[in-house]
Amino acid sequence: MGKIICEKHGENTIAFISKYHADNVFNNKKHIPSEIINIHVIDKQNAFNGNYIIDPILIKDIGIRDFKINFQTEFGKYEKMFDTLTPVCSKCWRSYKTT
Ligand SMILES: [Zn+2]
Repeated sequence: MGKIICEKHGENTIAFISKYHADNVFNNKKHIPSEIINIHVIDKQNAFNGNYIIDPILIKDIGIRDFKINFQTEFGKYEKMFDTLTPVCSKCWRSYKTT
């Protein structure tokens, strides 16, 4: 977890979300609850486990099933998802998903 300098909130922790949501956060758009999708990455070696916030378009593009990516057997999907992740200020992210 790194730090980001936000124009509104100053120094803050980073939230990594898909580019689609990041663009909405930057443009002060309202979120649509069904578009906020939590993907669980399962890594047997315990290095890349985690939850990532992405959107329905990306799910379709990558072909993610059951909101899960197995790091060992679906590395290509993980890589594609990871490429789109964009760092945003965690407070801006929180206010986007609550308004
Ligand atoms: Zn902020």
